[in-house]
Amino acid sequence: MFEKNARIISEELISNYPKIDKNSKFRFECKPGIECFNKCCNNVNIFLTPYDIARLRKALGIDSTEFLSKYTILPIAQNLRHPIVMLRMDEKTLNCPFLGDDGCLVYNDRPWSCRMFPIGIASPNEAEKLNNGEEFYFLIKEDVCKGFDQNREWTIDEWFTDQGLDEYQELGELFKEISLHKFFVTARAIEPVKLEMFYMVCYDIDKFRKFLFESTFFKRFDVDEDRKEKIRYNDAELIKFGFEWLRFSIFGEKVFELRKDYLDLDKNKVKQ
Ligand code: SF4
Ligand code: SF4
Repeated sequence: MFEKNARIISEELISNYPKIDKNSKFRFECKPGIECFNKCCNNVNIFLTPYDIARLRKALGIDSTEFLSKYTILPIAQNLRHPIVMLRMDEKTLNCPFLGDDGCLVYNDRPWSCRMFPIGIASPNEAEKLNNGEEFYFLIKEDVCKGFDQNREWTIDEWFTDQGLDEYQELGELFKEISLHKFFVTARAIEPVKLEMFYMVCYDIDKFRKFLFESTFFKRFDVDEDRKEKIRYNDAELIKFGFEWLRFSIFGEKVFELRKDYLDLDKNKVKQ
């Protein structure tokens, strides 16, 4: 069992793993037939990003509300300032729910952290403490993983391309800006309604889409038709729009303006 192989890794462990930079090479290969095949998909903490959920729920043919209720848990801890969502391991076997005999059943849509493995990336906090504030990568080396004994060599860029990480990176970086926003550090108390909004926008994305299109949202806020159509059909566009909405609705940044005709309508209602 691969107990220490948490995709969320403690600072103490990170400091023991070898650091690598963008130009250095590392040796690794994971393939069917390797003696440790599937062992890393057990008892593992995999946090999910909005784009992970968008991809997984689509691959499974269900909506985000059903996905969240069937396959995820919401860990509760005092130091968590906003909800995070993790894959729910099977209660008996502790296997990932998407682990099959021949490997990952959702391989083409597997989460960001599964694609990254065995590369870890330090958070700004860890970079501050362990590398004078400079972002760094590290190799998650565990004895049970025989991938490091193989001969194939990679740079980080080559690994990212091979694992289809490029399309996850842009949305991942934007999500990082939201989830590490100074608001969550400085706010004394965060109203439950704001946390619910965060949860819906970041994770329950089909509910968020309904919220946008089945309410007066687009009557109140100016969003051009072209963008509206993209948000209606494209999950990445919906997620990006959601991050902007959180900046406005939770952090108080002036990203949106109320439509003038809606304001006039409102004033007239008051006069009547
Ligand atoms: S999603 Fe796939 S690769 Fe990731 S832990 Fe589950 S089975 Fe393994
Ligand atoms: S090589 Fe490492 S990543 Fe691949 S199956 Fe084995 S333990 Fe998992």
